[in-house]
Amino acid sequence: MSSDSEERTGEPLMGSVPDKETVDQIAALCDGLTKFNEPLSEHTTIGVGGPALVWLRPKSEGSALRILNACAQQGIRHFVIGAGSNLLVRDGGYPGVVINLNHAFKKVQLKNSRLTAGAGTPVGTVIKKCAQAGQSGLEMLAGVPGTIGGALATNAGVDDWSISDVLDHVELVAGGETKEVDRDEITFSYRSSNLAELGVVLRASFLLNKAPTPQIQSRINGMLFKRRSTQPQKTKSAGCIFKNPPEAPAGKIIDELGFKGKKLGGAVVSDAHANWIVNVELASASEIIELIEKIEAAVEKKRGIKLERELEIVGVD
Ligand SMILES: Cc1cc2nc3c(=O)[nH]c(=O)nc-3n(C[C@H](O)[C@H](O)[C@H](O)COP(=O)(O)OP(=O)(O)OC[C@H]3O[C@@H](n4cnc5c(N)ncnc54)[C@H](O)[C@@H]3O)c2cc1C
Repeated sequence: MSSDSEERTGEPLMGSVPDKETVDQIAALCDGLTKFNEPLSEHTTIGVGGPALVWLRPKSEGSALRILNACAQQGIRHFVIGAGSNLLVRDGGYPGVVINLNHAFKKVQLKNSRLTAGAGTPVGTVIKKCAQAGQSGLEMLAGVPGTIGGALATNAGVDDWSISDVLDHVELVAGGETKEVDRDEITFSYRSSNLAELGVVLRASFLLNKAPTPQIQSRINGMLFKRRSTQPQKTKSAGCIFKNPPEAPAGKIIDELGFKGKKLGGAVVSDAHANWIVNVELASASEIIELIEKIEAAVEKKRGIKLERELEIVGVD
């Protein structure tokens, strides 16, 4: 049984902790980079987190599928990491296999207004390619540091717009089988999806609209300018910690309660945006979590609002 400290998005971590022999067997399936006891602080934008038993970045699709299928079939604890930009890994690390698809699934194809991108492709690469080809639809994500797979799993977006608005279908692997799943068969809501229950995204196909490149570029520049003027720059973070509740933006509520600049160890509530916690001085995951819990308790007590986390917390203490 998993303990509370092992929860991931409110659900117990799935699968059993692999022993050394099993870890070696899974690692042998990887034709790319293999790192044992790899600190996940190296693979998350907020820069904290203990080690994964093994971190794998396969080169080929075949190798990636063999790893994913072996983990699923043997019930081994595993998860896919993208750019790690919406993740906080606990200090005890992740007792399982962490798989990165950034090399195996990184092809981008544009045929007229249909874009197909591998799950490991950086969102920024996709946006650039679309702008050059005069295809509009994804530029709202300019400046979001994730992969296509991560963006879909979190239904990334800005304001009322989300990536699922332009999605046509995904190619998933689940239980050893790959299949295409239409957008209508997936449940998307504000900064959330049920993709984790359906499988691992390998590729996604989007339907875009033709538009002049300068117009798309100007929207991208506008998004980047807005980010530079409202969000902390050049600091380690995971973006927004909380979803905006219906009452008001989470940042405004947290700011009104005087949290800006509040420091706990190496973690600080950003002066630029109160819904961001930045890692300024080698923060630990437990310091960040303690700060998150203090904010949650204050917002509930003083405003009667139960904030929901946008940041996903994984691993063990
Ligand atoms: C500076 C900054 C600004 C940000 N701004 C925004 C913003 O404006 N809007 C917004 O929505 N978010 C924002 N974020 C949060 C984050 O960038 C997004 O949620 C992003 O889409 C996550 O992608 P990722 O590849 O980093 O996913 P990760 O953090 O690596 O993973 C997130 C989840 O996706 C799952 N996942 C990853 N790949 C796959 C796959 N192939 N198949 C199935 N599941 C998968 C992981 O298992 C995990 O559950 C920001 C973050 C930072 C650091």
